[in-house]
Amino acid sequence: MPHDVEIAVLGAGVVGCAVARALARRGHDVWVLEAASRPGTGISSRNSGVIHAGIQDPPSSLRTRACVEGRRRLVAYCRARAVPHRVCGKFVVAHTRAQVEALEGVLARAHAAGVTEARPVSPGVVVARAPCLRRPLAALLVPVTGIVDPHALVSALGADVERAGGKMVFACKVAAIELAGAGFTLRTSRGPVTVRRLVNAAGLGAAALARSVAPHAPPVHPCRGDYVRLRRPPPLDLPVYPVRTPGDPGLGLHLTPDLHGDVRLGPSAYYVDEPAALGGAPDLGPFVSAARTLLAGEVSAADLAYVDCGIRPKLRGRGERAERDFLLLEDPPGALHLLGIESPGLTAALALGRIVADWARGGGGDDVTRAAGHGAAEPAVGATVRMPRPGPVRR
Ligand SMILES: Cc1cc2nc3c(=O)[nH]c(=O)nc-3n(C[C@H](O)[C@H](O)[C@H](O)COP(=O)(O)OP(=O)(O)OC[C@H]3O[C@@H](n4cnc5c(N)ncnc54)[C@H](O)[C@@H]3O)c2cc1C
Repeated sequence: MPHDVEIAVLGAGVVGCAVARALARRGHDVWVLEAASRPGTGISSRNSGVIHAGIQDPPSSLRTRACVEGRRRLVAYCRARAVPHRVCGKFVVAHTRAQVEALEGVLARAHAAGVTEARPVSPGVVVARAPCLRRPLAALLVPVTGIVDPHALVSALGADVERAGGKMVFACKVAAIELAGAGFTLRTSRGPVTVRRLVNAAGLGAAALARSVAPHAPPVHPCRGDYVRLRRPPPLDLPVYPVRTPGDPGLGLHLTPDLHGDVRLGPSAYYVDEPAALGGAPDLGPFVSAARTLLAGEVSAADLAYVDCGIRPKLRGRGERAERDFLLLEDPPGALHLLGIESPGLTAALALGRIVADWARGGGGDDVTRAAGHGAAEPAVGATVRMPRPGPVRR
């Protein structure tokens, strides 16, 4: 393994690959160190594949801003690189009076985030576009939402890294980060690597790695989401979301078609003890009732089959009611840890790449939280230069 790599990116998920691509394209010497034998086997292969519009979080949050910028970049990228995707729009449907009232807030937030394409549509428009749906009381259409093949996306980004002169190193698990002079030594399963700077994009493993060099980095709380498949997929060409229940750590069980005509319902959202808690199938009861709310016609457990799950790396802990923002924590100087990159991280990846490339050039703006520097006794997360500690994201 080489010494004196300029920038190492830890993790080859969609975020690590997008970051490494942006860095390599700006001429940096970049190595991507990935524990698995290929890119994109972590969270990036276990999600809904939705290109989000950016209407779920507060407009000023990094989650929203990176989502809106990332979505535009992602759609352009998919078109340029022939990554399978479709900008199909989505419905947000209200089936109760409380949801109808909440829908107004969703629309206002969408417009405040610059997603001006979001608009109310009549229940008749919903069932005309998708006759398989139960007629809602009210609905929004968000035309800029899309779906993408996440595997093809990560492959394309990884190929771009190498094309731009970066290096992808697989089967290379980073066990710890250590300070070494003006840079760092990475203890890896393939021996030590000396780097001048690093970007920790290790997904569910990022918080543990961060703590080896930034003891005050916040923990990440694994939050599992299960998916079921409709055995007889209804003809549906766009995602259909309920109005989010306040305090829910997920967006609510929603219908998502993939690019091949299958339709999934999920993901659920519940905290688990281990980031690798992928085993076991869920109780189908909540899925049956969500399907009965969203779909016209009778649905029973026999119509649903458990598919898979993904685990969100949440900064929001069990029992907290409010979401937390993405955290790009530089601690100590030269080590940037990307923490809590849950949904909409797939959509936001190319924007995060741009922000990290700006950071590498000496910028990063208000999006990078800087702790106190080398040698500080207590490098507190709150000791930021340009941005207060990312607090709860109020909905
Ligand atoms: C259920 C679910 C649904 C979602 N749906 C959507 C959606 O529809 N749209 C959307 O925009 N986003 C969605 N997301 C979010 C999105 O999937 C993630 O934000 C994104 O995939 C995160 O990518 P990542 O590269 O940070 O993490 P990962 O893909 O997990 O990549 C991290 C990589 O780091 C590697 N790694 C870990 N530890 C080490 C180590 N010590 N040494 C070396 N390598 C290491 C891992 O092997 C992995 O490859 C969803 C997430 C979940 C869980």
